[in-house]
Amino acid sequence: MATRKGVSPTVNLNLNVRGLKQSATLAINEKSAQLMREGKQVFRFGLGQSPFPVPQPVVDELRANAHQKDYLPVRGLRTLRDTVAAYHRRMHGIERSGDDVLIGPGSKELMFVLQLVYYGDLVIPTPSWVSYAPQARIVGRQIYWVPTQPENDWRLMPDELDRVCHDDPSRPRIVILNYPSNPTGDTYTTDELKALAKVAKKYKVILLSDEIYGELHHRGQHVSIARYYPEGTIISGGLSKWCGAGGWRLGTFTFPHTLRWLLEAMATVASETYTSTSAPIQYAAIRAFEGGTEMESYLAHSRRVLRHLGRHVWRGLRDAGAAVSEPVGGFYLFPDFSPLRERLARHGITNSTQLCERMLDETGVATLPGADFGRPPAELTLRLAYVDFDGARALSAAQQIPLDQELDRTFLELYCPNVTQATAAMSHWLKKMK
Ligand code: GLU
Repeated sequence: MATRKGVSPTVNLNLNVRGLKQSATLAINEKSAQLMREGKQVFRFGLGQSPFPVPQPVVDELRANAHQKDYLPVRGLRTLRDTVAAYHRRMHGIERSGDDVLIGPGSKELMFVLQLVYYGDLVIPTPSWVSYAPQARIVGRQIYWVPTQPENDWRLMPDELDRVCHDDPSRPRIVILNYPSNPTGDTYTTDELKALAKVAKKYKVILLSDEIYGELHHRGQHVSIARYYPEGTIISGGLSKWCGAGGWRLGTFTFPHTLRWLLEAMATVASETYTSTSAPIQYAAIRAFEGGTEMESYLAHSRRVLRHLGRHVWRGLRDAGAAVSEPVGGFYLFPDFSPLRERLARHGITNSTQLCERMLDETGVATLPGADFGRPPAELTLRLAYVDFDGARALSAAQQIPLDQELDRTFLELYCPNVTQATAAMSHWLKKMK
């Protein structure tokens, strides 16, 4: 394409998305791949992708359905929708029917469509996952970042949510709660969920409960807030994290009966945009949501690997001086290096972007700055995803060790060497700075 001299071929002032860049998670993934192609060693802690393979029965089902070529119903395959509803009944004690379920090409797309069809402000705690706020910006919604405190492990506190809603009580709002959390690896207690549900009910907000990491609670103890605010909660889930199938792109939204109008509005937009979700993937997803012993065993072993690995990285960072809490679910940590602020400043590091860039240059560990998650730029926080290991190999080795046994350091060093080496490299880097 011809461009005038001095005019950038990538910037056009008429763009609706002026000022927005490619999503941070995907950008760091591509940057890491580029550095590796250049021959550099990179520990890939940037993109939060499950290291584990898709469970074999689900892969078999995909293979068996490769011939499915028809467009499927906009809301999703009937059997899959029924299976997802049954899954919520079984796992969370929440009564829903297949009519309450919407299937989409990833929960990220469904979140975008929700923000598009519902004219409400977006309310999210800081820190929150990198894409909620940019999606709101794309559709022109107001964004309210609710403050959290490091001493509460960055969890959203009910009184803070109340403070935001109090000023204009009847204003339409979507509140997104994500737990186990991306980026912190923390989750809420049942009492905290009840208290948050009470505030959500008081202001009749639409509560989008992003439970994509629910099955990766390290002890299998995830509880859905939909139990305490059923009439206003949409549960968001999908195959990406617990089923190792991020690239398959399948997400689910499960609505209460009272929000059927919202499901219908989203289905209208779906019908005019992506049409329906990939047919073979939907057939295979039925097998994943059906559960059963093979799926349970896969999950139990995945959780145990993540629990021990998360603990290992957490200890390494804590001992090197970062403020960080032990993860309880998912595969992220959100260390705060403020206790080392003076030392880092002597080396020219005064904000989270510099922290990540220098860490990548000097240790090879790719992470994302806290600023990408809505934290103040000068805060020395970052997110790391401890997923750089061969999940198939780790899982089959873990399956040889009875579930009631611990996985020791030798196991982690043998099967997750990039994670243990990256932890040592970060620790060494921090300690050697004077
Ligand atoms: N949820 C993942 C992350 O936070 C990656 C997927 C995405 O951003 O689309 O790293």
